[in-house]
Amino acid sequence: MKFFENSGEAANYLRLAVPKMIKHNIVPNPLNYTLWYSYYSNAYPKLNQALDLTIEQFGTCPQVVSEDLFLSHITKFDNVIKVDKIQQALLHVASDLSDNIEQTSQTTANYSNTLIVKLDELSTIVNVGGAQPIIEQLTISAQAICSSNDKFKRQIETARQEIEALKNELKSTKKEATTDHLTGLFNRRVFESIYEEFAQNSNDDVLAVIMMDIDKFKIFNDTHGHNMGDQILKFVGKLLKKECETPAVPVRFGGEEFIILCPTIEMSKVVELAERIRIKLSSVSFVSNKTGKKISPITASFGIAVWDNDESVTGFIERADKALYCAKDNGRNQVVLAD
Ligand code: GH3
Ligand code: MG
Ligand code: MG
Repeated sequence: MKFFENSGEAANYLRLAVPKMIKHNIVPNPLNYTLWYSYYSNAYPKLNQALDLTIEQFGTCPQVVSEDLFLSHITKFDNVIKVDKIQQALLHVASDLSDNIEQTSQTTANYSNTLIVKLDELSTIVNVGGAQPIIEQLTISAQAICSSNDKFKRQIETARQEIEALKNELKSTKKEATTDHLTGLFNRRVFESIYEEFAQNSNDDVLAVIMMDIDKFKIFNDTHGHNMGDQILKFVGKLLKKECETPAVPVRFGGEEFIILCPTIEMSKVVELAERIRIKLSSVSFVSNKTGKKISPITASFGIAVWDNDESVTGFIERADKALYCAKDNGRNQVVLAD
């Protein structure tokens, strides 16, 4: 399925989507644009059925239904990349249209201004009977074109500002869909997308993952409180961001588990990275926000697996997880490589 073969096609979807939204009184926000753009690009046939049914029932698409449809049809794991493409297409089309209109408008303005000047010159040199009224009429018409063109340009400026606002909204929508709020790291969806893209596009490139799980975190929470536990997770997020240099990507996989995707990084460097994080974490002293006393060091265990070509994401993660559990069984606070 293609979302954006060329800007003409994409513009067409948008041209169809906008009047439909206006007709059914649908708020023009990024989520709804994406929904209705998808509708006309026929990206998700089941979404189209659901939208048709909703319009039939309500005469519009209430925002709660839009959000629900967006979440259930568009922001599924395997659709993150597609959503990104739709959003990029929307922005591209919007700026394309605006640029084209601006250009046309500028040409018209130049033409009309030249016409007025030339007509003015003409009226001073031509004095043949009957010519003056024609020149005057032409001047009035050219002035009218100029003034409607000015109005049009102001409208374009407003549209440009709206596009800019839309761009920013899309950015924050995307950020929300891909970021874990507590740690600020990417979430599991991003892991899935990066993996998918890598699996499709890499040739013989190596892909390793480091799976990291905080040790005895349940006891930590029970002892020091959930709030303090959250502070630790935030700290781990910061530590991972600091230690992982491109192309390594740290992700909060869920709970107290993290994954670092290491595409094209050689194995010795991957092990080095895991060891560095392990040592740094275990050497930080935390102070309890309840008692003000020092807390015994936090540690984590690590499992590393290298992707076998053609291995499913589940199989890949299972092997890393198995290595991680070996690390736990062997006494925690250590790094183990998968078979
Ligand atoms: P192990 O060393 O075997 O991994 O033991 P564990 O206690 O870390 O593992 P377990 O799976 O038993 O418990 C995980 C704990 O992580 C329980 C849960 O409350 C805590 N946890 C998960 N997510 C969060 C969170 O967002 N905030 C806080 N404070 N705790 C969390
Ligand atoms: Mg765990
Ligand atoms: Mg744990």
